[in-house]
Amino acid sequence: PFDVLVVGGGPAGATAAIYAARKGIRTGIVAERFGGQILDTLGIENFISVKYTEGPKLAASLEEHVKQYDIDIMDSQRVKRLEKKDLIEIELENGAVLKSKTVVLATGARWRNLGVPGEAEFKNKGVAYCPHCDGPLFEGKHVAVIGGGNSGVEAAIDLAGIVKHVTVFEFMPELKADAVLQERLYSLPNVTVLKNVQTKEITGTDRVNGISYIDRETGEEHHLELQGVFVQIGLVPNTDWLEGTVERNRFGEIIVDKRGATNIPGVFAAGDCTDSAYKQIIISMGSGATAALGAFDYLIRN
Ligand code: FAD
Repeated sequence: PFDVLVVGGGPAGATAAIYAARKGIRTGIVAERFGGQILDTLGIENFISVKYTEGPKLAASLEEHVKQYDIDIMDSQRVKRLEKKDLIEIELENGAVLKSKTVVLATGARWRNLGVPGEAEFKNKGVAYCPHCDGPLFEGKHVAVIGGGNSGVEAAIDLAGIVKHVTVFEFMPELKADAVLQERLYSLPNVTVLKNVQTKEITGTDRVNGISYIDRETGEEHHLELQGVFVQIGLVPNTDWLEGTVERNRFGEIIVDKRGATNIPGVFAAGDCTDSAYKQIIISMGSGATAALGAFDYLIRN
């Protein structure tokens, strides 16, 4: 059996595997897509000490670093079940069962897509999902934020300090964000809020140039010219497969303590699949290191 088996090959999983292997213990990593979300990322400017890099390049460096160590890499394998017996069993979609004394879950998350025409086409060409990451790219421009929940309104407040104008699009007749956030939002001079509107299409030529939307009360269609669209309708953790085993919160995020431990002894978790407050590369790497050290601590005590 493995001493530490990592599930997920994004920044959190790669870091956990390296930290574990550096303890000289038997380490494996199984991932559906090695690299994770960063494979879909163009420019990265907030991975500290690296002024600028691109997602696929960072993913290649992660893999190269992991391969420096004696780590059993199982790529293009999807995990479907975890069971705690004497050892922890991890069953793959293809039916194979891996056994390990400890497991680090690092299956990440995915942004919920709007699913309207133009969204996929203009991804990284004006369509963005992460204001901390891409906000500065829209300095002096007019952008939309789709979604009036807490994350949408937080994004709009954040972006209003950088861009020229922000228009918030909310599908329902009222914003869902906390009152204190709404108050702050409405106090800003360069924010417009459109409620009871349905986004129909993100338009553009080589980059985004606007949004077509329907006023749900009148049924009329409008077009607003702008240069960027931040989609903020939810970040979904990849944890459905843990139903009934590892404890999760109401958002489906795995609940961890300060050592990355879950409710199941020997099972740790890190990165965007956990209840960490913020989801970023540098943060998921930090939590990957924490979870691996937590697992090592567990091993020497059991
Ligand atoms: P992920 O990167 O999501 O990796 C999860 C891993 O688990 C993948 O290997 C996946 O294939 C695997 N996996 C999932 N389910 C299973 C399963 N059932 N079985 C086996 N394997 C599984 N952050 C920044 O700090 N700066 C940025 O500029 C930035 N830009 C971004 C731009 C975009 C478009 C996106 C989508 C995200 C961006 N982020 C950015 C966020 C950052 O990418 C994430 O915070 C980070 O990748 C999280 O790392 P993770 O390892 O926790 O999860």
